[in-house]
Amino acid sequence: MDIHGYYKQAGNFHGHLCPGLAIGVRAAFEAGQALGSQMADRHNHIQCLAESAACWLDGIQFVLGSTFGNGALKIDDTGKSAFSFYNPETGESLRYYLLDLPREKPREELIDYILSAPLEKVFCRTPVRRPFPPRGEKAAELICPGCGEKFRADRALYREGQALCPHCG
Ligand SMILES: [Zn+2]
Ligand SMILES: [Zn+2]
Repeated sequence: MDIHGYYKQAGNFHGHLCPGLAIGVRAAFEAGQALGSQMADRHNHIQCLAESAACWLDGIQFVLGSTFGNGALKIDDTGKSAFSFYNPETGESLRYYLLDLPREKPREELIDYILSAPLEKVFCRTPVRRPFPPRGEKAAELICPGCGEKFRADRALYREGQALCPHCG
């Protein structure tokens, strides 16, 4: 499937077609080509650390199958439009930082530009700034004396010697 095919199908997943979705599809598509050739199966996903949350997350999830649920997509909220990709099998990684886009273009032309302009006009490729965060350790749990619900101990808020959950603290 070519990138336009991925974009159309990602639109069904996302619920609408938009420039943000196109950005995610392009970044993931290129990262998949650059890092993914050795990926034998879809159970070992390319990992993505996105630096802000927007429509592009669905493009990434759709193209690479890297999701919040399977742990291969995480947010490191720097407020930048940038995406780091990691191949956990080979250790290779890269980061795409979104360049200024010709936003004055009509929407359809802008989307086409995002999907098919030369890559170096859409993203600046840099080394990743940090490794992909390791899977969260299974944390100890506490029962909140305020609401009686169980929660992760490392989220506890302490008040008057009591360990309260984030709702009650
Ligand atoms: Zn959207
Ligand atoms: Zn509570």
